[in-house]
Amino acid sequence: MESFVYTASPSRVIFGPGASSKLPEELCRQTLRAALILSTKHQTGEANRIRDLLASNAVGLFSEAAMHTPTEVTEKALAVAQSLKADSIVSIGGGSTIGLGKAISIRTGLPHICIPTTYAGSEMTPILGETADGLKTTRRDPKILPGTVIYDVNLTMTLPQGLSATSGINAIAHAVEALYAPDSNPIIKLLAKEGIRALAESLPIIVKDANDKDARSKALYGAWLCGVCLGSTAMSLHHKLCHAVGGSFDLPHSETHTILLPHTIAYNSSAVPGAMKDLASALPDSNSNAIIGLNSLLDKLGVEKALKKYGMKEDDVDKAAIIAMKNRYDNPREVELEKVQELIRRAWAGEPAR
Ligand code: NAD
Repeated sequence: MESFVYTASPSRVIFGPGASSKLPEELCRQTLRAALILSTKHQTGEANRIRDLLASNAVGLFSEAAMHTPTEVTEKALAVAQSLKADSIVSIGGGSTIGLGKAISIRTGLPHICIPTTYAGSEMTPILGETADGLKTTRRDPKILPGTVIYDVNLTMTLPQGLSATSGINAIAHAVEALYAPDSNPIIKLLAKEGIRALAESLPIIVKDANDKDARSKALYGAWLCGVCLGSTAMSLHHKLCHAVGGSFDLPHSETHTILLPHTIAYNSSAVPGAMKDLASALPDSNSNAIIGLNSLLDKLGVEKALKKYGMKEDDVDKAAIIAMKNRYDNPREVELEKVQELIRRAWAGEPAR
């Protein structure tokens, strides 16, 4: 076996149906008495239920979390946290709400407890992306990692089936890139394969029956493991392209990941045969071929395959490729402008990956 470095992430995880009912106990364990709850407008109902559960240990609710963590929203939330003398942050929602929780926590040092309701995985990472004046910047700092994560499947039952499918593929993308990351290791590979397997088994069930709690539980478990992969390794072409294409042309986050993933895997496949074998082994119906396995999964999920359906213009293809070439990063295969242009064009048109 080759030498490797493995750093465990210091976060506490509480997993199970109804696990959010343990939040008061968890606050008490950490001697916290004044939590500010965060959510999007859309999830105010769930956030209010958490507020009721905490009773006098909740000082307020800020329900303006928004995609890409705009700094002006963070400033507003910080003012609320200060005026209410909050001693902790509880974020309930997807990556957007958790991003706001991280932004407040890193600025104030307040403990951050997450209750994730999508499969995006932000709760398991020390990464924060923020947008100021239309520009998104990302930073990594161990202090950004939320201290406690409560995975309560009951709160994921309302995630629409389409978003469940793309959010789950977003999670799988983290694990795929961890399989060939320059800083990968055998422990992360175990988590990656198990995370992919759990999601590939559960997502097709969820798109048929949104109320299947076993499948929802398995998907949330898979999302957790894939989130650890994202937080523990350096991401390559796939994540950089999603950031460049999605961020620059205002495309939806998990849908962009879902459309680009077969293309980025096809691009890198010849350079990482071991990772492709691992990926194929975790995907049903792969016939030992990772791309066949992924395409079969995407077909079962009935997801959109063309970026143009989300409003991206053909002229944006070349612009996106140029933006994607701007920052250098590790990738198993050399990233060449013309080839990346062709990759994005195929994804834009909805043509099969090759
Ligand atoms: P999101 O948080 O933007 O949520 C999308 C919508 O779904 C929101 O309106 C939300 O309120 C709603 N929603 C969430 N859970 C729901 C549920 N259970 N039932 C009904 N509605 C629900 O989407 P996301 O994909 O989770 O997160 C995307 C954002 O997170 C992006 O900005 C992305 O960059 C960021 N992200 C960051 C990291 C990181 O490590 N820093 C990782 C993944 C994603």
